[in-house]
Amino acid sequence: MKIQYLGTAAAEGWPGLFCRCEACRRAGELGGRNLRTRSQALIDDHLLIDFPCDTYAHMLRNGVDIPHIRSCLITHCHEDHFYPTDLQNRSEVYAQGLDDRMTLYGNDRMAETLRDFAAGPGAGMQVDYQELPVYRPAKIEEYEVIPLPARHNPAERCYNYIISDGKSTILYAHDTGMPREEVWQFLSGFAFDLVSLDCTGLMLSTRGGGHMCFEENLIMRERMLREGMAGAHTVFVANHFSHNGAKDPQGRIWMYEETSSRMKEQGFLMSWDGLTLEI
Ligand SMILES: [Zn+2]
Ligand SMILES: [Zn+2]
Ligand SMILES: [Zn+2]
Repeated sequence: MKIQYLGTAAAEGWPGLFCRCEACRRAGELGGRNLRTRSQALIDDHLLIDFPCDTYAHMLRNGVDIPHIRSCLITHCHEDHFYPTDLQNRSEVYAQGLDDRMTLYGNDRMAETLRDFAAGPGAGMQVDYQELPVYRPAKIEEYEVIPLPARHNPAERCYNYIISDGKSTILYAHDTGMPREEVWQFLSGFAFDLVSLDCTGLMLSTRGGGHMCFEENLIMRERMLREGMAGAHTVFVANHFSHNGAKDPQGRIWMYEETSSRMKEQGFLMSWDGLTLEI
């Protein structure tokens, strides 16, 4: 299975759209892997994960064939993951020569939002949607996909996903805090080849809440290895970063170069926009 990280930032991007903090200023100066758009990933060039407002930018920058995509998993309805406004551009006036409809899969809120949208500004958008129940395997394209309840926004049922093609298995855990014990119990039945963990809080040492920092990623990795959910071959990726997590408790600002080498020493790959992995 191939996974391509198209966008690797939290809601406001890094640099943040309107932010003048030190971490954003330095990202602008350094450029390259320090520049991060909103969260999106692509499996084997045809299964999209999330639909943020930066989808169009990812099409231009990464050469993603967006009109060809028939299936998209939505993790939750925060706008850095789900931006239905752009689906208007799938109506016949704007989208010519589409050979298929696109189906979005996700939670009840996503389904309700798309139902209302289809009755209004999204009329004619050639999009279907399907609500997925938690813990139940669904066949999407050639994959088995299982939504897990994330620990994120209490106002909706946010999802993390297990995605398997029968040979490799991925855990895509964005956005979420540390899993609840019932999720750990479910995860214990799997052996993952790639684990992608929310690292919004990056170098902060605060714990709890709807996101993780790198310290919590390390705790998750350690438990997964200890309890057999991961092995020596498992690739651990830290992903979904906020500029607000760049400053450690000592006041040092961590940018891509130094952060990624530190993460590497501790068994993690730090994602960047365009990172592509074959597992
Ligand atoms: Zn997010
Ligand atoms: Zn900033
Ligand atoms: Zn979110």
